[in-house]
Amino acid sequence: MKSLTSTYDVIVVGAGHAGYEAAHASAKMGSKTLLLTISLDSIGKLSCNPAIGGTAKGHLVREIDALGGIMGILADQTAIQYRMLNRSKGPAVWSPRAQVDRYAYQHLTKKLLEGRKNLDLFQGMLADFLVEEGRIVGITLQEGLTFYCHSLILCTGTFIKGTIHIGHDNYNGGRTGEPPSNALSTSLRKLSFNMGTLKTGTPPRIHKDSIDYSELEEQPSEDNVAFSFTPPSSTLSKISCHITYTNEYTQKIAKDNVLKSPMYSGKINSVGPRYCPSFEDKVTRFTDKTRHQIFLEPEGLTTSEVYVNGISTSLPFDVQLDMIHSIKGLENAQIMRPAYAIEYEYLKSGQLELTLESKKIKNLYFAGQINGTTGYEEAGAQGLIAGINASLKIQKKPPFILSRNEAYIGVLIEDIITKDLTEPYRMFTSRAEYRLLLRQDNADQRLSSYGLEYKLITEKRHAAITKKYSTAKSQIEILEKTFKAFETEKALPLSRLLSRDKVTYQTLIDHFPEHAKDWGKGINFIIETELKYKGYIEKQKSQILKFQKLENIKIPHNFDHSIVQALSSEAKEKLSRISPPTLSAASRIDGVTPADISILLIALKSRS
Ligand SMILES: Cc1cc2nc3c(=O)[nH]c(=O)nc-3n(C[C@H](O)[C@H](O)[C@H](O)COP(=O)(O)OP(=O)(O)OC[C@H]3O[C@@H](n4cnc5c(N)ncnc54)[C@H](O)[C@@H]3O)c2cc1C
Repeated sequence: MKSLTSTYDVIVVGAGHAGYEAAHASAKMGSKTLLLTISLDSIGKLSCNPAIGGTAKGHLVREIDALGGIMGILADQTAIQYRMLNRSKGPAVWSPRAQVDRYAYQHLTKKLLEGRKNLDLFQGMLADFLVEEGRIVGITLQEGLTFYCHSLILCTGTFIKGTIHIGHDNYNGGRTGEPPSNALSTSLRKLSFNMGTLKTGTPPRIHKDSIDYSELEEQPSEDNVAFSFTPPSSTLSKISCHITYTNEYTQKIAKDNVLKSPMYSGKINSVGPRYCPSFEDKVTRFTDKTRHQIFLEPEGLTTSEVYVNGISTSLPFDVQLDMIHSIKGLENAQIMRPAYAIEYEYLKSGQLELTLESKKIKNLYFAGQINGTTGYEEAGAQGLIAGINASLKIQKKPPFILSRNEAYIGVLIEDIITKDLTEPYRMFTSRAEYRLLLRQDNADQRLSSYGLEYKLITEKRHAAITKKYSTAKSQIEILEKTFKAFETEKALPLSRLLSRDKVTYQTLIDHFPEHAKDWGKGINFIIETELKYKGYIEKQKSQILKFQKLENIKIPHNFDHSIVQALSSEAKEKLSRISPPTLSAASRIDGVTPADISILLIALKSRS
């Protein structure tokens, strides 16, 4: 029997992607948890496109799943189209992506959380914090209630001081149809948090029956793609997306009206993501391109809304309509929801530990878009880490910090707490130094022992993973020891044959079945990848060892960078403000040179 109390181990505020992962992990680890959110009807809402994964984001979802988070399972159970992106490139950058049913995703998230032991859900709006002696002790709600807690995780997304823009019109909103969280801006500033402003945007949604599909390119769902390492069976049927293109006329409409866009008229001064530009940005920045690809993505099986991926804009509605109608197949399209841009406040970098706990106020954690990131996957990953750490702190156990060489999640968190963000941060494969080691296919090998340690995955699941990799390892050893001639006179180890371009593990199974067994898709893939890329993998492992030395040199919190005379003034300013946790994190800060790092190393040595 569940009953609401006024005191919790952990309170999570916001039931977006950071919030549901944080609340689920915290409750599963045994902490009595409250998930507070403005509306219980929008738990797990996909504010922008109804899609999970994609380049590098797919890696994050696989890592979340390996650690025992829920995003992968939610996506698999509600997927209506799957693709594995970048198949023509190396395995390091393969990334799963799914179009999901927006409403099924939300309902499933709510159902899963409602059934979670140790977790209460409550509808309300956080207004202020209760802090005693530099430590969070509770919160007050706009509705007049008070809750007490050991730890608080803030996952309020784009809601703090959210302002929605369509052309010259603007109004306050956390996202379309929902109120902003303005009191929180004041409460955070009262606690001396340093806030900045960012911006993001979303395209219009159109009615599927108003699209002429006859000349559009169809993109069907692929088989054998999933996020979860233990994929649940989905009953949802799979459907296709379609591809069309903007043309020179679409561009002319955008260019002719660019001054009606709040970004170009000066109404919005904050920065949006360069990698996910609005259409007006595309036509002013990429002037050599005469057309841009548009994906028409169904929002679900029970709705007629179609997401027009590729034409995010904040131009006025009449201009949006003209642009849409200029596109092949969309000549008579009916817009059901206009595109818009949103400006919101976020927590500037340098104020959090690697656990996502605030440096200023103990037991207060921040996760998701509030930390300057964009994307469901980036948010979910942070929520999971914050949820685990909040619970570990209650259990008086050491914190959980993933390093850059273990996981994309490690890269993400170190980047957002130590780098000055000039635009919303999203994950890319190029941000990870060791991407051949951090593949989406081996996330379970890299991370599931943590999931087991924190009781987020079962022993049975962990044992199956251990068996899978030990089988692959034994097979690799056999291939390394077995010498055979193949298409030449000279005998070579079978493992070496595999490094040839046209030889696959299937080739070895076909020609040497007594030495190369068919273990099934998953294990065969591991064997092939490990052997084909052996040289590069070894090289990355030795680079890690080299960098480990810097990684191990910790910089104490109270270290005063300003007194290290020989540091450049830029390095002094950035190191003092960001306070990187290790020498290697310091070396990755823009403007901190190798010379500064040598000076810092000497200063740290003489201090110790
Ligand atoms: C217009 C728009 C366009 C976007 N475009 C993209 C894109 O192109 N690509 C991309 O990857 N991502 C995009 N996103 C971002 C994506 O939606 C977010 O990155 C992701 O949802 C962030 O997850 P989150 O959990 O941090 O916050 P959200 O999903 O925003 O969830 C925040 C939660 O906090 C709750 N909340 C807020 N304030 C309070 C309060 N005071 N009290 C209680 N609850 C509160 C809200 O009700 C909500 O449940 C876009 C978002 C918007 C709004």
